[in-house]
Amino acid sequence: MSNSRKEHAVEGLDSKHDDIHVHDHESCCLSRRGFIGGTVAAAVVGTLGGLGLPETAWAAGDDYDYLKANKDYAAKKALHKATYPGPKPIRPAKRMAVVACMDARLDVEDMLGVQTGDAHVIRNAGGVVTEDALRSLVISHHLLNTREFILIHHTRCGMLAFTDDLLKAGLEGDPKAVELLSKATGRTFVSPNASATSPAEFHAFRGQIEAVDAPKDKLTNVERLNWDVRRGISRIMNHPWIPTKGPDAVSVRGFIYDVDTGLLEEVSYPGSMGSFG
Ligand code: ZN
Repeated sequence: MSNSRKEHAVEGLDSKHDDIHVHDHESCCLSRRGFIGGTVAAAVVGTLGGLGLPETAWAAGDDYDYLKANKDYAAKKALHKATYPGPKPIRPAKRMAVVACMDARLDVEDMLGVQTGDAHVIRNAGGVVTEDALRSLVISHHLLNTREFILIHHTRCGMLAFTDDLLKAGLEGDPKAVELLSKATGRTFVSPNASATSPAEFHAFRGQIEAVDAPKDKLTNVERLNWDVRRGISRIMNHPWIPTKGPDAVSVRGFIYDVDTGLLEEVSYPGSMGSFG
C-alpha cells in the first residue's frame, strides 16, 4: 500500500469494502435524481452487468508502493512487463490515474512499476491539468473506480522554454518570434503565418523562460515546475466533480521526475503557484 493510500484511507474504504456498486448505486442515484429515466438506467445496468466484472476485479497487491518501485527503476531494475498479459478487467487494478508530460524520456509505466491494466495514464505537453485532462480524471474516478491521482512534471521540460505569447506570435508570422523560437529549439521555425482560435492556450509554464533542455536548477526551473504541479493539484482539489473528502475521496499527489536520475521527488502542497518576481 502506498503512503498516500494509508494517509487517505477512510473507514469502510479498504480494498475489500469500498466497491463502487455500479449495478445498484450508480443507476439508483442517477435515476432518483432524475438525470436518467428508468429505462435508460436499466440499459446502463444491463450493459455494465454484461461486462461480467466481479466487484473485486481491481484488487491491487497490498504491497505495491510506487515510490519504492520508482527507486528500483532508477536503480535500473526492469519492472514493467512489456508482453501482452491476456484479458484484463476494464477497471485499473491499482486504482491510479497518472497525468504526465508527453516527453519522450518519460516511461510512466516503467518509472512507477505498473503493469498493463494497472493504471490510467493521461499524457499531454507538460502533464498539465487541462480541461481535457479533467474530463479524463472525472471519468476515471466516477466510472472506472480510481482513487489516487498522480501528477508528474519533469526536469528539462520543453514547457519551460517558451511562453504562450511567443509561440502564438511565431505561428502568426512575427519575424522576431520566429527568430527566437528557431534559436531556442535549434530547429528552423517555419511559421504558418496564420491566426487560429484553437488551442486557446498552450499552458507554457509561468516564469522566466530558459533554453530548451536546460539542466535542473533548484532555484529556478524546479520552482517553476513546482508552481505548475501545485496549480494542477489545486484545479483537481477544487473541482466540484472530483471528491477529495468523504467516503468516495480521491487522493492527489504531485511529483517532479528527474530525467537525469530516474527518480521522482514530491512537490509540497499547498504552496506558491507562481510569481512575476
Ligand atoms: Zn515535458
